[in-house]
Amino acid sequence: MADTIVTRFAPSPTGFLHIGGARTALFNWLYAKGHGGKMLLRIEDTDRERSTDAAIHAIIEGLTWLGLTWEGEPISQFERRERHAEVARELVAAGKAYYCYATPEELTAMRETARAEGRPPRYDGRWRDRDPSEAPAGVDPVIRIKAPQEGETVVQDHVQGRVAFPNKDLDDFIILRSDGTPTYMHAVVVDDHDMGVTHVIRGDDHLTNAARQGIIYDAMGWQTPEWSHIPLIHGPDGAKLSKRHGALGVEAYRAMGYLPEALRNYLSRLGWGHGDDEIFTSEQAAEWFELDAVGKGPARFDFVKLQNVNGHY
Ligand code: GLU
Repeated sequence: MADTIVTRFAPSPTGFLHIGGARTALFNWLYAKGHGGKMLLRIEDTDRERSTDAAIHAIIEGLTWLGLTWEGEPISQFERRERHAEVARELVAAGKAYYCYATPEELTAMRETARAEGRPPRYDGRWRDRDPSEAPAGVDPVIRIKAPQEGETVVQDHVQGRVAFPNKDLDDFIILRSDGTPTYMHAVVVDDHDMGVTHVIRGDDHLTNAARQGIIYDAMGWQTPEWSHIPLIHGPDGAKLSKRHGALGVEAYRAMGYLPEALRNYLSRLGWGHGDDEIFTSEQAAEWFELDAVGKGPARFDFVKLQNVNGHY
């Protein structure tokens, strides 16, 4: 492991700073702060249709209000697209990835066969060993990575433990689209590597992505980061926290007069805790916070508890 701990918060700027996003940022911040490291901020703005400047602004405002500081300037993922393409081409040159000219009709047929056979859709690797000179005219290729075909890919995770994915479920996935833009899967790996990220702490909805991302790390001969996939936040009724539970954005709590220290204190206890302690400072939280102590089960958001915490400040 590298000497300096580097974490990052990598939101997609498609809306306000969600309570779940704030908790992810907080855990990254606490871990870095408690281990003499640094947290970076990367804005994952590659989806040009859904990313907005207003959302970037809201995320930065929300983090700043919460007191979650990052080192240096926020990094725009979109600005790094040339680098993503370059790495994808490097993988092709090294024989670890290949141009795939499968047509939309062929891909649809693959999906339909899978559906008829009752299995998840899977690209069948038809361009893996074919020569690009056989490429049909008029098809712009994508770049796919050669994923291992047998055995399993293991994600060793601080929160989830050892999680194994059968390789037959991980097909040769796309890393560069036909228009030359990177997929999420690929951009994240290249950025995390280039930014020197040592610890990836994010929602457990990204756990399967970690398996695929591990394949890219291995193909490049890069060291995989330490993974921690934290459980999503549920509402008091046990369902995933959503609009019907009420306020979802950090901004709403700010508008209601909650104090940033109180929200930070409360969010730090969503999925993690320090004995029976309910009220503590961020300095204490940073000192005590450990990834291995984050629970695997979903954390429950409880508005009454948040109010109680706020009352202490
Ligand atoms: N941009 C992704 C999201 O907002 C996070 C990616 C990551 O943390 O690897 O869900």
